Amino acid sequence: MQSHLDQPAIGVDLGGTNIVCAAVMAEARIIEKHKRPTEVPKGVEQVVANIKQCIHEVLRKAHLSLEQISGIGIGSPGPLNTRTGIVINPANLHGWHNVPLRKMIEDEFHVPVVLDNDANAAAYGEKWAGAGKGVDNLVVFTLGTGVGGGIIMDGKLLHGPDDTAGEVGHCTIDYNGYQCKCGNRGCLETYVSATGIVRRTIEAIRQGRDTIINKMVEGDLNRLTSKIVYEALEQGDALACEIFEETGRLLGVGIANIVNTLNPEMIVISGGVIQAGEHLFRPTREEVRRRAFEEPTRTAKIVPAQLGGDAGVIGAAGILVQHLTLKTPTQKNHG
Ligand SMILES: [Zn+2]
Repeated sequence: MQSHLDQPAIGVDLGGTNIVCAAVMAEARIIEKHKRPTEVPKGVEQVVANIKQCIHEVLRKAHLSLEQISGIGIGSPGPLNTRTGIVINPANLHGWHNVPLRKMIEDEFHVPVVLDNDANAAAYGEKWAGAGKGVDNLVVFTLGTGVGGGIIMDGKLLHGPDDTAGEVGHCTIDYNGYQCKCGNRGCLETYVSATGIVRRTIEAIRQGRDTIINKMVEGDLNRLTSKIVYEALEQGDALACEIFEETGRLLGVGIANIVNTLNPEMIVISGGVIQAGEHLFRPTREEVRRRAFEEPTRTAKIVPAQLGGDAGVIGAAGILVQHLTLKTPTQKNHG
């Protein structure tokens, strides 16, 4: 008999702006994908209706019936509770308070549903199908507006009793540093996120540094984005080059802490900044070598992510597949 584990799973990447759903084969290949706006201001009911609609649409496009899928994995902004399937009160899902999202989706589709946070889903995607394929101990740093992350040890995501494990972006790298939105000062995120890169660039320009960036934003620093800093780097701008060098070093400080703490086989860096290639990775690796113990540093390969924007949906499906795989032997024993 064909196992349900060979059937495609549905991955859902719930974001503050868009919902992405994909039908993903057991070998981590996307067969169909559908995207639609989340519409957070319209309220919880509408967002949940949009998620359901998005799942129905991807099933239709992939010509799949509910009997033909193994289940649904959802990556949602946190905080959330993976055991109860409740989304607590995410900053970018304004108006959400203790929403039983897993149950709402189960009641619609009557298939197994798992819920995890979006950063964990993206990290698991890289482990299942991306840079970390075949690696059982890895840590993913996702550099976006903030810095998200996920820790996978012995092949499984590390959650902790409060589902807050993996917040690598909020390790302190400077005890008197920038104010972070989490309430702490000097979090890694405040330096190496897109926001942090823009902030450090603006500070340097205000201190009188000469750069083509001024011209690129036509003198209006409010228009500066990390993408523009990257474009300046491509044009050989010295300040942009220094900013990326410094970003790598600061990231290396955070990674050195993780290397010493967890002894991972691999560190995966994800997000638009990885386009900077060796301008980012060389100083990152140098800084880790300078700070962390020799043996775990030699072990920990620091590599760019491979799945880009699809990591979240692929990983959400992957978490469901792993959940069913771990459950299966017990069920067999009872059967
Ligand atoms: Zn923080």
